[in-house]
Amino acid sequence: MMASVSAEISQDTILVGIGASPGIAIARSHLLNRARVAGIERRILPTEVDAEIATFQAAVDKAKTHLHEVKEQAADQHAEHLYIIDTHLLILEDQLLINATIDLIRTELLNAEGALSRTLRRLRQVFDSISDEYLRERRSDIDSVGDRLMRNLLGEVRENLATLTGQAIIVAHDLSPADTMQLDRGKVVGFVTDVGGRTSHTAILARSLMIPAVVGLENITTQVMSAEPMIIDGTAGTVILNPSPDTFREYLARKQRYEYLEKELLAYQVLPAETEDGHRIALRGNVELPDDIAAARAQGVEGIGLYRTEFLFMAASVPPSEEEQYLAYRAAAEAMAPHPVTIRTLDVGGDKFVPELNLLDEANPVMGLRAVRFSLKEGHLFRTQLRAILRAAVHGNVRVMFPMISGVAEIRACRHLLEKVRLELTGEGIPVGPLSIGIMVETPAAVLIADVMAREVDFFSVGTNDLIQYCLAIDRGNEHVAYLYEPLHPAVLRALQRVCAAARDAGIEISICGEMAGEQLYSLVLIGLGFSELSMNPASISRVKRLMRRSTLAEARELVGRLLELPTGAEVVQALEAEMKRRFPQIFETSHF
Ligand code: PEP
Ligand code: MG
Repeated sequence: MMASVSAEISQDTILVGIGASPGIAIARSHLLNRARVAGIERRILPTEVDAEIATFQAAVDKAKTHLHEVKEQAADQHAEHLYIIDTHLLILEDQLLINATIDLIRTELLNAEGALSRTLRRLRQVFDSISDEYLRERRSDIDSVGDRLMRNLLGEVRENLATLTGQAIIVAHDLSPADTMQLDRGKVVGFVTDVGGRTSHTAILARSLMIPAVVGLENITTQVMSAEPMIIDGTAGTVILNPSPDTFREYLARKQRYEYLEKELLAYQVLPAETEDGHRIALRGNVELPDDIAAARAQGVEGIGLYRTEFLFMAASVPPSEEEQYLAYRAAAEAMAPHPVTIRTLDVGGDKFVPELNLLDEANPVMGLRAVRFSLKEGHLFRTQLRAILRAAVHGNVRVMFPMISGVAEIRACRHLLEKVRLELTGEGIPVGPLSIGIMVETPAAVLIADVMAREVDFFSVGTNDLIQYCLAIDRGNEHVAYLYEPLHPAVLRALQRVCAAARDAGIEISICGEMAGEQLYSLVLIGLGFSELSMNPASISRVKRLMRRSTLAEARELVGRLLELPTGAEVVQALEAEMKRRFPQIFETSHF
């Protein structure tokens, strides 16, 4: 049994952070000094400028050499993640970082550390103002590279994680992706950090290495020292300091069960997605950037059910050209063929802000000029995107999907433009491929006239993230009303039932691509409602498939029938949780909801 070496921490102290990588780890802590180092500003003489720039350049070169070494070492184990190191190498070439620092040395007569500090501060401010979580998290890449440069300038040696002697949970202010790649899987059984979010590159790597991790704990580095016993639950996002013998035993048992279930999950990657009675349901992936495609394939997705193309626009400082878009869509189509790739046209506005598209300053952007409304108004952007999609369709099974449709007139306007663009391309002698045409059903209007809409398109995909928001009149980003955001509200269930019925009657495909699709609590409900396709975060595919393969369609339908009778969302949740716990006690015993 482990004994605590810390007198101040009371037994079973629970800290709550963000679960960045699931699983349970039990070990002693190893505190790693990764606090950000500050560069002290100092004025230099004009005669010192050249020497200071040379010092800075040497720090940059050293950082590059180190990253190349990490890349070489990691080439076998982490081939699919080497792009992260490439991203850091690119940052080391970036004018906004390197040239800006050199300019400050020269024009402001600042020492290299001071100039670097100022440049980093400015860059961080720019990143902090971005509202999109994924892009904002890219700030951690700048931090990581900046910190490496600063340590090189100050001549500090970073403790190398490859030299750990026993099993440990790493406790650090932050870990860089390079640190994470160098973790020795035999020794590092988990990690916890003060900063970071679920979509930081370090968190992404932890998930792919299958190392449990909890991030965003704010000040864990000030609460523990090295060699203290601790437990982390990366699924729940909790850390237990100084565990009591009972807690220790309980978590050891949970860990064993979790690991057994995880091993079992691997087998599901290659099994067909069908119910126990042989009813096939397509499980597809939601992707945001070209890099996501390979990871989605590795999870066994049957095509892409939602390609959020606005991320291509957010990731660049100018809108991507027709050629750039064509290449991105074509690569996806080729990688997934013969399975479909569903390309959703630009969905900006609302909470997705792309500064260079000059969106209007609206009082109520979520109900404003967003998604397809914006595309139809900004015809030139829309045409460029449609041209790229039609060209990419030559290379695979491509579907186009229009977001936030609220009436038939919008579908017709989109189809009209699509036809015009197709003729244009043909006239120019450029090959175009066949396209299935679908819409996102995410407004109450689309639900209410789903039967009419179904005659106009080849498929529906329900965007529950927005549909719940509009159906219940709950801003999905407003924490004050978050308690009312109920995916199982009877109104939402009935809306889903209605859309599925309309699709079935019209004989068109019916998909769901909101976050609900990837949450295993809802899997049987969605199958019972009649969805023929679920599109989700690729990492959720095996979990959903496991539940699906252990249930029959009739059971799922019977469950939905019962839930539809209940008057409140709370009662629906209660009944569903009870049913899932009864049928799958191991899977639903802890925080898997
Ligand atoms: C949705 O609204 O459910 C959806 C999938 O689209 P997004 O989250 O990109 O708005
Ligand atoms: Mg949406």
